[in-house]
Amino acid sequence: MSDYIPYGLHWIDDEDIKEVIKVLRGKWIATGPKIKEFEDVFAKYIGCKYAVSVSSGTSALDIAIASLDLKKDSEIITTPFTFVATSNMILLNGLKPVFVDIKPDTYNINPDEIEKKITNKTKAILYMDYAGQPCDIDEIKRIAKEHGLYLIEDAAHALGAEYKNRKVGCFADLTCFSFYPVKHITTGEGGMVTTNNEDLYKKLLMLRNHGIDKPTSERFGSKAFYAYDMKLLGKNYRITDFQCALGISQLKKLENFLKLRENIASTYSKEFKNDDVKTPDVKQNIRHAWHLYTLLLPDRVDRDKFFSLMRSRNIGVNVHYTPVYRHSYYRERYTIKSSDFPVTEDIFKRTITIPIFPRMTKEQVNKVISEVRSASRNQA
Ligand SMILES: *Cc1c(COP(=O)(O)O)cnc(C)c1O
Repeated sequence: MSDYIPYGLHWIDDEDIKEVIKVLRGKWIATGPKIKEFEDVFAKYIGCKYAVSVSSGTSALDIAIASLDLKKDSEIITTPFTFVATSNMILLNGLKPVFVDIKPDTYNINPDEIEKKITNKTKAILYMDYAGQPCDIDEIKRIAKEHGLYLIEDAAHALGAEYKNRKVGCFADLTCFSFYPVKHITTGEGGMVTTNNEDLYKKLLMLRNHGIDKPTSERFGSKAFYAYDMKLLGKNYRITDFQCALGISQLKKLENFLKLRENIASTYSKEFKNDDVKTPDVKQNIRHAWHLYTLLLPDRVDRDKFFSLMRSRNIGVNVHYTPVYRHSYYRERYTIKSSDFPVTEDIFKRTITIPIFPRMTKEQVNKVISEVRSASRNQA
């Protein structure tokens, strides 16, 4: 029996490992010089002014939202077709997520639906670039400007993606990235917030470190003074120095990782072109980062049966995502009608994620293609 092919997988090589070991042998393993170095190379890669590294993509979202200092019960408009962390962080900040249906072509939030949900409590839009395809950023920015709303981008899927030849990372006031192993680059757990706004940047630095105004590095050594002030109510969301060494090393490989993902995606799209599974729509003027490759199954195919059949053949298919409002925590506390989200519901019932990751071999890609065809024929 052949090995299980996961839907996503990190790629760490000897060079990465050497960089981590160097830090582990040194004096600084928690907050040290690699933190700022990682942030600097990351900001430079994105083409924005500031980057703040944190312990996960979830903590990135948490401090990004917290930095806006929104009044309790303010509303943030977001997509239900995302990982739960996106809207959980809205709730954990004492705010209300207001879900808006997605577009049938990209599965990204539908700008036409955003305007209908704006009230005088709406303060921000938190949009997510599904699978690595940027949202309609110009349109979302226009709405935000017209209504005086902040923008937060959950770019956990979109490191390296571009919109009109500019990298995702500084279109919104705050952009959040994740370095979880299935994402484009990894630090084990880890995340980053990018911004061009100096005030928000200063708050983010404090919010990841208990709300304290002075980084640990400035409180160390013979000349430093003990005093620091806690200005904001913060958590410990710091990432470690050895993780940042890994991040710096991984970032050097990102362009190659993106190209390898692009190659696999284009092979899939070419192969499935004449089959009755629907391949992803890719818009003009964007670069897709291909975090996920999803197929839309035809009506004749039962997605859950297809899923189990593929898993039984060792293909690590997945479903991204069960709409957030379908989870019990949300169902038990909020009255959200799934019928208000007809596109999300339709896509959710028919979508399947098939494996894509940089280190995937040609044989693995071919195996996935033949198993998709066989599982789909099986239900004909
Ligand atoms: C991965 C992911 C997150 C959370 O990132 P973690 O690093 O796992 O905390 C948030 N939003 C989306 C859309 C994600 O895919």
